[in-house]
Amino acid sequence: MRFEFATATRIIFGEGAAATLADLARTFGVRPIVVTGAAIERTSALVTALQAERFPVTGEPTVDLIREGVRQVQKAGCDVVISIGGGSVIDAGKAIAAMATNGGEPLEFLEIVGRGRTITSPALPFIAVPTTAGTGSEVTRNAVIGSPEHGVKVSLRSPLMLPRVALVDPELTYGLPPAITAFTGLDALTQLIEPYVSSRANTLVDAICVEGIRHVPGALRRAYHDGNNQDARRDMAMASLFGGLALANAGLGVVHGFAAPLGGGWMAPHGALCAAVLPHGMAANVRAMRARAPQHPALERYAEIARLLTGRSEASMEDGIDWVRALCAELNVPALRSWGVSEADLPGIAEKASISSSMQANPLPLTHEELIIVLQAAL
Ligand SMILES: [Zn+2]
Repeated sequence: MRFEFATATRIIFGEGAAATLADLARTFGVRPIVVTGAAIERTSALVTALQAERFPVTGEPTVDLIREGVRQVQKAGCDVVISIGGGSVIDAGKAIAAMATNGGEPLEFLEIVGRGRTITSPALPFIAVPTTAGTGSEVTRNAVIGSPEHGVKVSLRSPLMLPRVALVDPELTYGLPPAITAFTGLDALTQLIEPYVSSRANTLVDAICVEGIRHVPGALRRAYHDGNNQDARRDMAMASLFGGLALANAGLGVVHGFAAPLGGGWMAPHGALCAAVLPHGMAANVRAMRARAPQHPALERYAEIARLLTGRSEASMEDGIDWVRALCAELNVPALRSWGVSEADLPGIAEKASISSSMQANPLPLTHEELIIVLQAAL
């Protein structure tokens, strides 16, 4: 057996952890820049205490936004980058920190739509403070960037982009609105399921996934219906963190394979797209393995997922898929159609999804027809 598991991120987890941010930042530099999202009521005290240059981000990061952030870092002479926000804000800060020391042009380094050059210089020190529980981006080595002209989202990726510190304080997620709780929470669940069945799964990632999945069933419903439930928020913050560690070391799969072109072409939150596709992607993988690879080890993993989610030792793979489908219904996950996706778009989406980086870790390759079936079910 041989596997690799890398993280260079110092993880600080717990209620009140964010209070240490200003002191932590001073250990890395004297001129911080803080990247924030649109909704900053919950974090304004934290931002003010930093007395830092600010870079507000609305929406998901694009190539242009990263260029602009790099210009601001250089103009102000910033030496440490801090993101306080959801996945988009963390990805923006992570990309800005990396591009600031690597020439400033994202298209040089972006995979698929760019030149895919390797990042060679260490990023500026970067501290990630998540305010949602979903993406796990605080411990991953990639930043998802939209390139509107190509209609797709792709990653800047390098071990040199790992955040130096992930400051995960569940209190920052208290009171998040139900829809954001649902979308981000289902993204976290997807990011625990896909690495667990991934073709690159390994034993250390397995342990993280199983423990992470265990946190979701009770917590996500409670966090959705009662946004101030402290135990539920803590469990979801943990699930999100574990999902990030897992995906960074074992990759993802078909659901995130679709999230790349869907997120690039339609204005919809990443987690909402993953949630809409998740039960159908699981069903397609199980069907395909039963038909073409009945001995595939990931089949038993889908059965284990079903047992973890339902809490029943005799649960079948179908029970697990049905459980996810029922959860999506209870959490009011909209179908793809409600984001403007139509039947005519499906072949193009399937085409782009099949070459996305996430799809390469799916337990087995799916045919174009199988991909279309997933999309039709999610439509
Ligand atoms: Zn995701």
